[in-house]
Amino acid sequence: MDLQTPLMYVKGVGPARAAMLEAKGLSTVADLLSYPPFRYEDRSNVKSIRQLAPGEMATVVAEVSSVKSTGVRRIKGGLFEAKFVDSSRVPLVAKWFHGDYLRSVLVPGCRVALYGKIELDTYSGELTVMHPEFEILPHSSEEADSSLHVGRIVPIYEAAGKVTTRILRTLVWRILESLPAQADPLPESVRQRIQALDYWTAVRQLHFPPNGEDLRQLNSFRSPAHFRLIFEEFFWLQCGLRLRRSKVRMQPGIAFALTDRVREQIKIMLPVKPTAAQKRVLAEIASDMAQPHPMNRLLQGDVGSGKTLVAAEAAVIAVENGYQVALLAPTEILATQHYLYFKGLFSKLGYVVALLTGSLSPREKGKLKELIQAGLVQITVGTHALLEEDVSFRNLGLAIIDEQHRFGVIQRLQLMQKGLHPDVLVMTATPIPRTLTMTAYGDLDVSVIDELPPGRKPVITRHVSELRLEQVWSFIKREIESGRQAYVVYPVIEESETASLKAAEKMYHHLSDKVFPQFRVGLLHGRLSPEQKEEVMRQFKSGDLHILVATTVIEVGVDVPNATVMVIEQAERFGLAQLHQLRGRVGRGAAQSYCILVTGRLNDVAKERIRTLTDSHDGFFIAEMDLKLRGPGEFFGTRQSGMPGLRIANLLRDQEVLDLARREAVDFLEASVSEADRDGVIRYLQDHWNRRFGLARVG
Ligand code: ADP
Ligand code: MG
Repeated sequence: MDLQTPLMYVKGVGPARAAMLEAKGLSTVADLLSYPPFRYEDRSNVKSIRQLAPGEMATVVAEVSSVKSTGVRRIKGGLFEAKFVDSSRVPLVAKWFHGDYLRSVLVPGCRVALYGKIELDTYSGELTVMHPEFEILPHSSEEADSSLHVGRIVPIYEAAGKVTTRILRTLVWRILESLPAQADPLPESVRQRIQALDYWTAVRQLHFPPNGEDLRQLNSFRSPAHFRLIFEEFFWLQCGLRLRRSKVRMQPGIAFALTDRVREQIKIMLPVKPTAAQKRVLAEIASDMAQPHPMNRLLQGDVGSGKTLVAAEAAVIAVENGYQVALLAPTEILATQHYLYFKGLFSKLGYVVALLTGSLSPREKGKLKELIQAGLVQITVGTHALLEEDVSFRNLGLAIIDEQHRFGVIQRLQLMQKGLHPDVLVMTATPIPRTLTMTAYGDLDVSVIDELPPGRKPVITRHVSELRLEQVWSFIKREIESGRQAYVVYPVIEESETASLKAAEKMYHHLSDKVFPQFRVGLLHGRLSPEQKEEVMRQFKSGDLHILVATTVIEVGVDVPNATVMVIEQAERFGLAQLHQLRGRVGRGAAQSYCILVTGRLNDVAKERIRTLTDSHDGFFIAEMDLKLRGPGEFFGTRQSGMPGLRIANLLRDQEVLDLARREAVDFLEASVSEADRDGVIRYLQDHWNRRFGLARVG
């Protein structure tokens, strides 16, 4: 047996168990060894029932003496009670609602470890525990490995189908017993510097901590073994990302010339004076573009911070050097908006700007594609239609992707392949917490615009109960009478798009017929055709519509500076980052703007979430909160194809270890390494980590 042995061949695992383990992503011995217990129980000094105090969380080892079911079993599965006794002869009663199925599991005479909150039933005077976690133990005489499950700190694993924590514990134990000590894959110099346990000790202690180990440390993943294994996971991830990055950096690319003429043209194009932050990030982008290697840069900036203008400056550099530019946007509305903005900016320079979307007729599309291929269009703005195979450029030099989180890595590559190592700039208005830029986006350089254009007033944000909607409507009325415009947004509920659409439609009719008969109200939602959407947006932008009732399609990038009110209904249904995005649709002009979050009654957690928005305008802070509340998988609201599959490490909990691992990975690869050491790391990554991190192109 070695680390790569399939679990199927481990004693005690047949095809059925192997399939259940596989479903959990556990297929080899190495997988199982890096499957961490989610909790530990100290059964080294188990208290007798007599010693238990009401109110404490405790582990008890005892025998079932009798069981009974009460309550209306036919309807509810009844209330199942099991009485436990140990040598102290005091009974402990465990109760489970709907627990009738336990009848065949907890039979009198069986030995069980229970874990739960001990309470005193004042009516019967008995010690009780409700819904304890439990594990059936072998009788001490029966199995040689009974000492595995009691008399020590034991690991508790998440079950894999019918493979219980006890079976998993036994399997891990057997594997650890029969494997020879494994060599340490971490470079010795790194291990010494961070003073970590060696690999084999760490793995053994992860599963079977030495007696006397601090239980709190273990349960918070902070034991020395945890530190070592978490560090290692991050270290390889960071090495892989660095190597991939330096490899891209070695590729030949276009060295754009930054001549006086280029600078002059940028000046002519600019309609406003750039902010200091815009100047700084442009300098970063320009210096990347001047390198004879491809740029791979992520441009982050809060909504309204002026990323598009910076993208336009970069486009001038490319076009003045004789190259074409492509800008990919996630929606038709956004693409159209960028197209119009760019057309305005570049008319002064005489560039040809084109819009390529799915709603063009086949003839128009065909014609446009010809022009692009002939190099007669300098700047092509488009949606997914831009990625179609028959779209080809004469010489694509700069690929810009707006709202990167709406696209996957695949689309980024598809666009890049339309040129010969073009420079790539991806933009996002969703502030991405640093832990994620260091992992999911670890192969990109990052520029941040951390300043809003001058004259912006922070949006005043208020939380209002849905019972006071009338007041919200009169507020909107006053704003519109003084010449402004307003958005009213409804959530799209994924499970029932039709129902939420109906709600938005109903409110639209209610608002336009009953509440605001004197104003013009428009409706925008995902089921409209692209032309219809565009028409509604055009009307709102030109001021023909006073109020826009919308589902979240307006979320990103919509720019109507005269709109000053954003009302979000059922705000509790939105993610924080999404609410922040929506709020960013107002406050884009000089006038004071307002964001009104309307909700039903909220529990404390939901109130806290809403308070984050009313108290803060800092997109990065809000993003961190969102990440904490929802977790990395949910963060972007779409499945994030670039997220690495971490096993023991956790991006939220282990940020400090991530920082350390990154510094060590950088030092290791840049300073100390001989060619042989470097090859060693690359080989290790290829053998062990590609499958998990998807770093398919390392080395
Ligand atoms: P983002 O894409 O980052 O959300 P935009 O590029 O759409 O932001 O810019 C938001 C608004 O601010 C636009 O109307 C734009 O014309 C304006 N703007 C951008 N940069 C400046 C600046 N330096 N000074 C004044 N207005 C600016
Ligand atoms: Mg934008």
